[in-house]
Amino acid sequence: MKCSYCLKEIERGTGFAFVNRNGTTRYYCTNRCKKLNLDYNRKLRIRENKPTAAKA
Ligand SMILES: [Zn+2]
Repeated sequence: MKCSYCLKEIERGTGFAFVNRNGTTRYYCTNRCKKLNLDYNRKLRIRENKPTAAKA
């Protein structure tokens, strides 16, 4: 399997598995990748929740 963040191949017996609330599982080669990916998702969610500025 591959790291969900950096897409590096994870050797068997290493890495982290993270199960989302919606049931999907993500794999990370290192704790750092896990943290970065979760932070990234959080930022995306914050951006989505912001009301869109009136562009048009
Ligand atoms: Zn990784």
